[in-house]
Amino acid sequence: MTVLVVGAGITGLSAAHELAAAGIATLLVEASERLGGKVRTERADGFLVEAGPDSFISYRPAAIELCRELGLGEALIRPSEPRTVQVRTGGRFVPLPEGIGLLLPTRLRPFVTSPMFSPLEKLRIGLDLVLPRARDEGDVAVGPFLRRRLGGPLVERLAGPLIGGVYGTPIDQLSLDAVVPQLRAAERDHRSLILAGLAQGRARASAGSVGGGIGGAAGGRAGANSTGANGTGSPFVTLAGGTGQLVEALAGSLGRSSSVTLRTRTRVTGLERRGGRSIVRLESADRSGEWIEPEAVILAAPAPVAADLLDGIAPATAAQLRAIPHGSSGVVSLAYRLEQFARPPAGHGFLVAETEPLTISACTLSSLKWAGRAPEGTVLLRAFIGSKGSEQERLLAAPDELLVAAARRDLAATLGVRGEPILSRVTRLPGAMPHYTVGHLERVAAAVAGLAGTPDLVLAGAAYRGVGIPDCIAQGRAAARRVVQGRAET
Ligand SMILES: Cc1cc2nc3c(=O)[nH]c(=O)nc-3n(C[C@H](O)[C@H](O)[C@H](O)COP(=O)(O)OP(=O)(O)OC[C@H]3O[C@@H](n4cnc5c(N)ncnc54)[C@H](O)[C@@H]3O)c2cc1C
Repeated sequence: MTVLVVGAGITGLSAAHELAAAGIATLLVEASERLGGKVRTERADGFLVEAGPDSFISYRPAAIELCRELGLGEALIRPSEPRTVQVRTGGRFVPLPEGIGLLLPTRLRPFVTSPMFSPLEKLRIGLDLVLPRARDEGDVAVGPFLRRRLGGPLVERLAGPLIGGVYGTPIDQLSLDAVVPQLRAAERDHRSLILAGLAQGRARASAGSVGGGIGGAAGGRAGANSTGANGTGSPFVTLAGGTGQLVEALAGSLGRSSSVTLRTRTRVTGLERRGGRSIVRLESADRSGEWIEPEAVILAAPAPVAADLLDGIAPATAAQLRAIPHGSSGVVSLAYRLEQFARPPAGHGFLVAETEPLTISACTLSSLKWAGRAPEGTVLLRAFIGSKGSEQERLLAAPDELLVAAARRDLAATLGVRGEPILSRVTRLPGAMPHYTVGHLERVAAAVAGLAGTPDLVLAGAAYRGVGIPDCIAQGRAAARRVVQGRAET
């Protein structure tokens, strides 16, 4: 009897890795011709281009632990200096104040002296020090919560790009409980978010550590917005060979395991129940459709796919999964020679304030942020186009040339880069970003509850309990452990 893992993104690969370690016969099927899902690293002409994620947070240990288990400990790298990140606001660049623990000041002086906010705006932010706690009325949206405590400008210039950017959605829709539960805890425990941030800064200084910071988002989208506190060290790490190195190592390890069978170009197209067990239809390029009877199924494909598969056997779960909205995203990677820049670029990149009239939502200076991304004398940039408005949605459906043209226009206006890029890559990720909207945790709990009668079916992946690579790895491994435990109990 075999455990079937559906989808070989980082979640499914991690689930299979855990099952292999337990010596359980596993069939991992992947619809496309390649492993890794959204994790994809391309090497071309001396450049290392990340199509999706470029790094992961270190304070959620699952990714680092997995890297070490796979012998990649030595390949883990920290971002290069200087780690400055700018915010594009009012047509100019303003540095993120030092000591921003991804959102809240962990040190007061850099925040007070930052040019990002006017004296009046700083006074409004400071009102947080005296505002009372709100009554706890269940989940709310991140935007209104922060506006109540810290005012609008902080939301537009900091919280929106930092947190909304990770999920590719306006923070007025994002769930406080699912995305930044630390903020609710900060208000509960300290009343003032600023006091909570400063307390964390002191604790961190005495422990000498770099953590996620209050306001650290659940996952980490690539780009400047995945950079941690300016001047306090970054909580992000990656692999010298890019995030794809992790996929290669997992694939290598699974390939060596005698208990794992890996099939690409094989799509799960049906799921039914017969005699208290699941039967699953597989369709592959080289074989016609077949039905298999696995002992358990880990659904690590995106939630809309899982919803279609569960329609006939767990309609309530399928409905909950369909209620998780998914937005699209695009990444335009462009490389230039250094002399094509009006000013030499520096730092890790920039975020774009919500009110700024640009198409891109962030730009990472990839080759300045990470070592080994571009040949000497060249600069590799990654510009992000999220589904923040109808213009971006239309653009994400348009031909590559139009995405490249929009990114080049914005990069010329902001970084003063001129002329033809020496490398250009477009990654289009339709429906790739699960949006954790208000009530997300209840939706996930209800989806899981709907599978109570079929404990051999387990959900895992970015749509449920964290979009970042570490959360996906943790979910994949936890799903596998649940299956192993279920086996032991029967
Ligand atoms: C642009 C972008 C940048 C990001 N940056 C970061 C970052 O810097 N750091 C970070 O931590 N996270 C980042 N993320 C998030 C992270 O990359 C994803 O959340 C994560 O990779 C999702 O992994 P997954 O395995 O859950 O899903 P996926 O990667 O979507 O994998 C699902 C797999 O299932 C397969 N599949 C689908 N249907 C079927 C079927 N019927 N049968 C079989 N197989 C099927 C798909 O082909 C796919 O390979 C980013 C995401 C995006 C889109």
